[in-house]
Amino acid sequence: MPITPTDTIWMNGELVPWDQATVHVLTHTLHYGSGVFEGIRAYPTPAGVAVFRLTEHIDRLVTSAKILMLECPFSRDELVAATKTLVRENRLDEGCYIRPLVYLGYGEMGLNPLPCTVDVSIAAWPWGTYLGDEGVANGIRLKVSSWQRHDPNAVPTAAKVTGMYVNSSLAKMEAIKAGYDEAVLLAPDGHVSECTGENIFVVRDGHLVTPPVSDAGALAGITLRSVKTIAHDLGLEVTHETLLRTDLYTADEAFLTGTAAEVVPIREVDDRVVGDGQPGPVTTQIQQVYFAAVRGEVDRYKDWLEYVE
Ligand code: PMP
Repeated sequence: MPITPTDTIWMNGELVPWDQATVHVLTHTLHYGSGVFEGIRAYPTPAGVAVFRLTEHIDRLVTSAKILMLECPFSRDELVAATKTLVRENRLDEGCYIRPLVYLGYGEMGLNPLPCTVDVSIAAWPWGTYLGDEGVANGIRLKVSSWQRHDPNAVPTAAKVTGMYVNSSLAKMEAIKAGYDEAVLLAPDGHVSECTGENIFVVRDGHLVTPPVSDAGALAGITLRSVKTIAHDLGLEVTHETLLRTDLYTADEAFLTGTAAEVVPIREVDDRVVGDGQPGPVTTQIQQVYFAAVRGEVDRYKDWLEYVE
């Protein structure tokens, strides 16, 4: 997924030309993975470009910073305003992916991060479908990873910490090298947790099941939350239940959710065909409503859109 440069990146309160948005090689977070970040999308809507659930993403960023004891020098409102300014000033009217990062800067080394300066950047660029248009349309092939999802008492799974994504990258590489599209990780207790950057749902007898996020050590996804609301409004039941890998094999349908990936059907897990190997009716319906909602085409979900103008 190559990055398309835009004009500027927001760094500590200023819009800096793209090529000058750099850090020192001794930046603390580069060595210890001690930052927190977000992944957000903006979409074109009939009323102009809008950031999807922006305030909730920034709230999660602030919460992640709190968990890591990072003193973020900008308030939630300042970060919301900065994100809108960035998208507007870079004229990203067709939508974009947005990457805020709170990180420990240059000046201190060693494992006590408390004396470090805290820096903040926000970048945005046009970004296509994370798991490919083909995957969105026809479903992806998933592999249960040999890598385990973090134990919440080893690293805080409730926070979106940069260094923790080594785990996701290892699982992703293993899956890609083995010819799959994406990996699903099991929690230390053996139950299904989540994918490398997405939550997972199965459909059983017409209702949706997803693992309990805290128990499974999964991230509390904002797309997951949106899908729960959409499903509820469609009259579908949604429950959080522990799932075994075999529950993925035997599901009627399965799909994953995430800001980058959006809503993507799963057509195979560990070479077992899920359902009939086609995106099922529930998945398709949820996907259609989600894609319409993010583009401002569903009145009841207009609250989810935060316009940049
Ligand atoms: N799990 C992980 C590990 C993730 O990185 C993400 C993406 N932020 C998600 C789940 C989905 O979260 P969201 O729907 O908020 O993007």
